[in-house]
Amino acid sequence: MAKRDYYEALGVGKNASADEIKRAYRRMAMKYHPDKNPNDKDAETKFKECAEAYEVLSDQNKRQRYDQFGHEGLRGSGMHDFSRMNVEDIFSMFGFDDFFGGIFGGRGRRSSRRAGPTRGYDLETAVELTLNDIARGTEKTIEFTRQDACDDCKGTGCAKGSSPGKCPACGGTGQVAKGGGFFQMVSTCGRCGGGGQIITDPCKKCRGTGRVPRKRAVSVKIPPGVHEGQGIRVASEGEPGRGGGPRGDLYCYVRVKPHEFLQRDGNDLIAVVPISFTQAALGATIDVPSINGTRQLRVPPGTQYGGIFRIKGEGLPDVRTHRTGDQLVQVTIETPTRLSAEQQELLREFAKTENKRVSPKSVSFFEKLKKHLGNH
Ligand SMILES: [Zn+2]
Ligand SMILES: [Zn+2]
Repeated sequence: MAKRDYYEALGVGKNASADEIKRAYRRMAMKYHPDKNPNDKDAETKFKECAEAYEVLSDQNKRQRYDQFGHEGLRGSGMHDFSRMNVEDIFSMFGFDDFFGGIFGGRGRRSSRRAGPTRGYDLETAVELTLNDIARGTEKTIEFTRQDACDDCKGTGCAKGSSPGKCPACGGTGQVAKGGGFFQMVSTCGRCGGGGQIITDPCKKCRGTGRVPRKRAVSVKIPPGVHEGQGIRVASEGEPGRGGGPRGDLYCYVRVKPHEFLQRDGNDLIAVVPISFTQAALGATIDVPSINGTRQLRVPPGTQYGGIFRIKGEGLPDVRTHRTGDQLVQVTIETPTRLSAEQQELLREFAKTENKRVSPKSVSFFEKLKKHLGNH
């Protein structure tokens, strides 16, 4: 599915200030909030779309990448997968839960969002590799920011010396009854999320979420032959789970740095190498750039412009089969631009043998001018 433009999703212009973006996000999040649009999947999708747009446009670095390269440019920049997140976590992520709490009936912070343990969210990041890294495989240190348990409250979200209190909406049972008479329905308490407890005195450092962003560095083994956009999974380096649930995973997406001389085509490498017209005509041994530095290639006499030569086994290894691709060398032929008088004479002699008409011998205007000035 084609992704929507982030500015469009928030209804702001490309030059919107940080403040305008924040206000626009609040406005949109309110409009599409699931509490206001119960059982409306479309509203929930739009709500998450706005959250994603806000995550990018509220971050100067991500916004710049998006402006320059569009959605593609954000791949691996540490984005959340909002489609798999629940609405509560999206609130607390941007620190807007106060605001939403105020609007949607003061639900307060929940000490446990769900009754059972839940797995933490996966994170994405990028790893930039050269073709040489890809040829041999490598190990890279990846730095990224993730949410970790807050030190001040040990992840509970409660201020020092306080503990979660009984949820006033359900009296601590986690369930509320709706309707009356014979048809009373019992549903999960919306205020405490079914946990029966809420944080009454939130921790100052994490604002009651129990989490703070923290920098992290992990070493990631990159197998040889990986491709642009491929994700390498690092187990259990994502965000922490809730209620004792396991951590999510980290996915490192491969970005390939352009090589000065070599282009990749599957597992083959292509180099375009200029040769002189005499080398093309008479044949020559030329130096060509390769993944291992340079190597020599014999071009036969009579080589034409655009001719392609294959060097077996000088490409990249296949990530699965480990079979190595080839290098292809395409030659272009350079026409000399500054011939000496002697070279011109030799070529004229050659042209005579070809019976080809060439432009007559002439002294350039500038040479005439130089001579003229020299005489005075
Ligand atoms: Zn409750
Ligand atoms: Zn805390």
